[in-house]
Amino acid sequence: MRTMSPIYEGSRPTCQGPDPAPGAEQAAAIHARARGTIRNVAGGRPGHTVAPRSPAPGGAGRGSLDVHFGVWIRPRDPLRTRSTGRVVQSRRRAGNSLSRRSSCATLPAHSKRVAIMELNARVLARQEVAPGLIILRVAPEGWALPPFEPGQFAVLGLPGAAPRVPEAEPENPPPPPHQLIRRAYSIASSSRQHEYLEFYLALVRTGALTPRLFRLHVGDRLWLGPRFSGMFTLRHVPADAHLVLVATGTGLAPYMSMLRTHLAESAHRRTAVIHGARYPSDLGYRNELEDLARRHPHLTYLPVVSRPQGAVPPWSGAVGHVQDIWRAGLIARAWGFPPEPAHTHVFLCGNPQMIEDMVRLLEGEGFREHHKDAPGQIHTERYW
Ligand SMILES: Cc1cc2nc3c(=O)[nH]c(=O)nc-3n(C[C@H](O)[C@H](O)[C@H](O)COP(=O)(O)OP(=O)(O)OC[C@H]3O[C@@H](n4cnc5c(N)ncnc54)[C@H](O)[C@@H]3O)c2cc1C
Repeated sequence: MRTMSPIYEGSRPTCQGPDPAPGAEQAAAIHARARGTIRNVAGGRPGHTVAPRSPAPGGAGRGSLDVHFGVWIRPRDPLRTRSTGRVVQSRRRAGNSLSRRSSCATLPAHSKRVAIMELNARVLARQEVAPGLIILRVAPEGWALPPFEPGQFAVLGLPGAAPRVPEAEPENPPPPPHQLIRRAYSIASSSRQHEYLEFYLALVRTGALTPRLFRLHVGDRLWLGPRFSGMFTLRHVPADAHLVLVATGTGLAPYMSMLRTHLAESAHRRTAVIHGARYPSDLGYRNELEDLARRHPHLTYLPVVSRPQGAVPPWSGAVGHVQDIWRAGLIARAWGFPPEPAHTHVFLCGNPQMIEDMVRLLEGEGFREHHKDAPGQIHTERYW
C-alpha cells in the first residue's frame, strides 16, 4: 500500500492503493472512427476481433495481456505481428484516428508500433466529490504522456465486460463484452503534470461508459487514448484579453487545467470562473478555487447552485443558474468594469442547453462565436 497526496487542497484524501505493477511495454493506439468530434466513440474497427480476458494468475497466453479487463487479440487479426503476436498499428494510422480537429500532441517515440486495445493505464487516485461525481487520476503504464494544451481532452475506455455500479440503469441490450467503450473527457490536471491526468466525471446512470468508470478503484486498469485533442484552448485568445470561464457540472474540468497550468498566475488579465451546479456539494474543486481566488486578486470565483434547500452547512451564495450570474452583472462588480467583446473572451463548457442560452445572451451584447475562419470571443465545448 502507498499513500498519495490529496487530489486538491481541502479534499478528503482517498488515494490509497497498491503500487502499480511494473508496466509492460504498453502503449496504445486507437482506432476511433475519424469524425469531426470524438463524442460517443464506441465499438471496434471492422476486421479487429477482440475478446475480454479475466485476470489470469501466472501469466496469460501468447498475444494476450495479463491484466484486469485485459483484451485478448484473436490470432486472425490482420495487423498481428509475426514476432510478438500482438496487433499493431502504424503511428500514422494512430495519429489519424482520433479526431480531425487539430492537436499539439504527438505519440511518444517508443510507441511507433503499438498494441491496440490494451488497458494501458491505471487509476492512481479516486475521490468522490458527491454521489455521482468523482475525480479520477489516471497514470499511463509503460509509456509517457504526450504534451497537451490546457483545455484539451483525452479519451478513456473500458470493455463491455467491465462491471457497472449497482445504481446504473440496466442495459438492454448490454454491449458485447469485447467492445471497448470510449468517451472523451476534458483533462483537469495541469499540463505541467507529467505523471498522470486528472478527470472530473459525472455518472450518467443510463450511460455506457460512466457506470463502468465509477466502478474503478485505485490500481484498476483502463484504456487511455495516447493522443489528446481539442480546440477549446487559449490558443486563439489574445494574451491580454480578460476571460470569463463558464461551466456547468464537470464542464469545470478544462478550466482547472488552464488555471493550474498558468492562468492563476496571469496577473495581467482578469479571469472570472462561473460554476453552476444543482447542489452546493456538487461544486467540485470549490476549496481549490476559493483558495486560488483568495491568493490571486485578479481571479474571481462565482459559484451558483439551483437547489440550495436543505444544504448542510446552509448555502449563502448565489442561487440560480450561470446565466443569472452574467445577467446580474456580478463580473462587472468584481472587476470594476463590465466584460465586453472589445477586451473579453468567454468560454462555455458543459450542458449544451446552457451553452445555447449563454451564446444567445452574449450575442445580444455584441459577442460572436469563435470559428476558425471567423474569429470571435465565444468559445464552446458541448459535452453531449
Ligand atoms: C470534448 C468532450 C469532453 C468531455 N469531457 C467530459 C468531462 O470532463 N467530464 C464528464 O463527465 N463528461 C465529459 N464529456 C461527456 C462524456 O464524453 C460522455 O458523453 C459522458 O461521460 C457520458 O458517457 P456514457 O457512456 O456514460 O453515456 P452515453 O451512453 O454516451 O450517453 C447517454 C446520454 O446521456 C446524456 N449525457 C451525456 N453526458 C451527460 C452528462 N454529463 N450529464 C447528463 N447527461 C449526459 C447524453 O444525452 C447521452 O446521449 C465530454 C464530452 C466531450 C464531447
